[in-house]
Amino acid sequence: MATVPESEVLERVESGLLIGGRWRAAADGGTFQVEDPATGRTLRTVADATPADALAALDAADAAQTGWAGVPPRRRGEILRRAHDLLIARRDEFALLITLEMGKSLVESRAEVDYGAQYLRWFGEEAVRIDGSWKVSEDGSARVLVMRQPVGPCLLITPWNAPLAMPARKIGPAVAAGCTMIVKPAAQTPLTTAALASLLAEAGLPDGVLNVVPTTQAGAITELLLRDGRLRKLSFTGSTPVGRLLLSQAADTVLRTSMELGGNAPFIVCRDADIDAAVEGAMTAKLRNVGEACIAANRFYVDATVAEEFSVKLVARMATISVGPGTDPDAVLGPMIDERQRRRVADLVDETVAAGALVRAGGELPDGPGYFYPPTVLTDIPKDARITREEIFGPIAAVNTFTTEEEALQEANRTEFGLVAYLFTRDLDRALRMSERIESGMVGLNRGYVSDPSAPFGGVKQSGVGREGGNSGIAEYLEEKYVAINVSSR
Ligand code: NAD
Repeated sequence: MATVPESEVLERVESGLLIGGRWRAAADGGTFQVEDPATGRTLRTVADATPADALAALDAADAAQTGWAGVPPRRRGEILRRAHDLLIARRDEFALLITLEMGKSLVESRAEVDYGAQYLRWFGEEAVRIDGSWKVSEDGSARVLVMRQPVGPCLLITPWNAPLAMPARKIGPAVAAGCTMIVKPAAQTPLTTAALASLLAEAGLPDGVLNVVPTTQAGAITELLLRDGRLRKLSFTGSTPVGRLLLSQAADTVLRTSMELGGNAPFIVCRDADIDAAVEGAMTAKLRNVGEACIAANRFYVDATVAEEFSVKLVARMATISVGPGTDPDAVLGPMIDERQRRRVADLVDETVAAGALVRAGGELPDGPGYFYPPTVLTDIPKDARITREEIFGPIAAVNTFTTEEEALQEANRTEFGLVAYLFTRDLDRALRMSERIESGMVGLNRGYVSDPSAPFGGVKQSGVGREGGNSGIAEYLEEKYVAINVSSR
């Protein structure tokens, strides 16, 4: 249980827009409500940014950019390190806020606080390692100086499913690189972002570097900002359809973009796999974050010779999962984010079952308040069922079978997505061979979890462009400038 009273946590969080270091109301006084998905009650009423507010945020980010870029890297790094330490000290408070507005269990929310804090620490360490290069030109007549400079004001758009880690993964490198920013959190979960922004200010982030505009007018605000020549970068995490739209809008100003989009992860279990380990991996890859994760296992492909054993064990493990409000210490699986998502998932299950799939666990909408959906296992999935083509984003395991390695690879790659794939095998040759051929930005090998601040997170195909974290994460916020230096021969 959280040690901080809920009312205190909710009262303490800012409910305005953060522009130029000041929390304020929306230009037209508009507000919207943030809901608890476990009960449907209103948690807080939050300022609803208008296009005029978005421009004011860009004014502030633009005005702060030159000064911020000149702040020594060590100081930028220390701000992030202090923010990391403050976050860890307030883990329970932040975890409660995440659980209240997003739904997942407190255990998972605490893990998200740690994970988000790690990005701040990692990029704090990267701030002082931004380097350049120097060389002699091929013909010896010049010197080639390459410097790396902050891109400039960034727009960071984040989803609701990880309300702390997703902004931290963008704010960390932007701060480290010396960029100013406007953060637009998802309308379902603006509270955690507001609390994080307050914490960064407390850690020493100067006014105007980080501006926050929660809004219900995401489209209008974003389009306006993308068309304004002062914005230099868009980093977006969200669905592929919205990502496509933003990429087309960003084309007009040839804006730098980083896109962390949807997934449709295959989870492949080979005949030589440790089945118990595969089932544990499946539980993590499927149920983490209530199944609402871009890296959630979406399609299980299990060798036909071990498929029944895997399914029986998976069903048995799923039966141990208790469903309930995330604030309940006994609950493992919290509610889905809203009724729309829950309805979508329920329809997907019903459609798959109507087409011939078998329900081995779950599959029924519970009564009562909140947007709960039980852990569900489906087998005998019809080929080409929508559930294998679309991102499920819910606690549903759809188990398919295969007979040859080639078939598993072809099925795994038969999607426009390419974020992550999971592979369980004890054969090293097979593991490497298949990892090389799987079309994804990340592979979880005998592991149901790949998120790690020291690793490059991101996808190929329509799962995105660019990487967050690792050694490449900061590069997304830096531009290379080359200075050709004339050296006259004597
Ligand atoms: P979404 O695309 O609906 O929304 C994401 C963000 O974009 C939100 O802040 C939303 O307000 C904003 N948005 C929506 N329409 C917009 C528009 N027209 N212009 C500008 N902004 C707009 O996605 P979601 O439902 O919030 O999140 C779930 C999706 O995010 C899933 O597809 C999931 O896979 C993806 N995701 C990807 C990663 C990753 O790292 N690849 C991580 C988490 C989530």
